[in-house]
Amino acid sequence: MAETIFSEMSRLALEHDAINLGQGFPDTPGPREVVDAAVAAMHKGWNQYPPAVGIASLRTAIAEHQRHWYGLDVAADGGVVVCSGASEALSSAMTALLRPGDEVIALEPYYDLYGATAELLGARLVPVRIHAPDYAVDADAVRAAVTDRTRMIVLNTPHNPTGAVLSRAELQSIADIAIEHDLVVLSDEVYEHLVFDDERHIPIASLPGMFERTITVGSGGKTFSVTGWKIGWATGPADLVGKVLGVKQWFSFAAGTPLQHGIATGLELPDERLEALGADLGRKRDLLTEGLRDLGLEVFHSKATYFVTADVAPLGVTDSLEFCRSLPERVGVAAVPNQVFHASPVGVETQVRFACCKRDEVLADALLRLRKL
Ligand SMILES: *Cc1c(COP(=O)(O)O)cnc(C)c1O
Repeated sequence: MAETIFSEMSRLALEHDAINLGQGFPDTPGPREVVDAAVAAMHKGWNQYPPAVGIASLRTAIAEHQRHWYGLDVAADGGVVVCSGASEALSSAMTALLRPGDEVIALEPYYDLYGATAELLGARLVPVRIHAPDYAVDADAVRAAVTDRTRMIVLNTPHNPTGAVLSRAELQSIADIAIEHDLVVLSDEVYEHLVFDDERHIPIASLPGMFERTITVGSGGKTFSVTGWKIGWATGPADLVGKVLGVKQWFSFAAGTPLQHGIATGLELPDERLEALGADLGRKRDLLTEGLRDLGLEVFHSKATYFVTADVAPLGVTDSLEFCRSLPERVGVAAVPNQVFHASPVGVETQVRFACCKRDEVLADALLRLRKL
């Protein structure tokens, strides 16, 4: 398989000393307590293999987190598996549950891992488009995509790349379809705490009848701005989580013991600290949105995540892929074309995703550079 677009754009950014608004990673160190706890764990000598399922204190913290924030009754023993990032949780869940010829429905645009993993498994990703500017879910289109080969719906809320946050009504319409057709929902919620303004994240597992058919995925790397740590997890009913563990043990076996201790500390931080992470990012969303609008671009409202999508057609661009490939060399900024999150680029040929999770002065510098366009 080809190099991912994120690797390609990050490589071009390095080559041309460009500001990387492509791959979504923050440029600040993350909460002090989280980093300190990982360092302390290393000095205590907690540097050997953890259990494949994850260290007990982190599993307890994850279960408690699901209960505290969402009222979900997750068992620390049996209902949680810690993985090498949300990525491994997602690919393990898909590998555990999909067979060649199976179909998996995903809202399009979709995170590229879903399509690539489906392809590796000989399964087929069936996209259901959500459209700018409001990215509403068309429940009839989801229903129409179900066939007798459909096994799973992959959901992503808050949604990368659009910044959409699915409403309770939208989630209910998807839940109804999952229950009616006996489908598993794999819910990618890595941006659960990175929501802006008055938005609120709702896990689909918290809807009636859904916990028992949902695998919910979270990411310590995304939540605590330490994306390089690659500590994520899957939670849900014991039978589904057991299947994820059954696959994951043959992938990485287990992930970074001291980093698991760091993330456990993070999940125990007071609510205000987690809320502040979203509020701070919301301010950066505003800086980037306003800056791009000043350049004459149409910018779609992002309610959450690390990202903002803009339409660069006003710059005379007709192909965002070509535009993004040349941007690092032309002006010293990297971004990602939204096309790569689609099975077909039709209708999104000029959309570009910019990351807002950077220091204010870096965003200001990037906007200044983009003025050269
Ligand atoms: C970043 C991201 C992931 C992967 O998370 P990791 O914990 O870094 O593996 C999964 N899904 C979405 C939508 C993401 O943006």
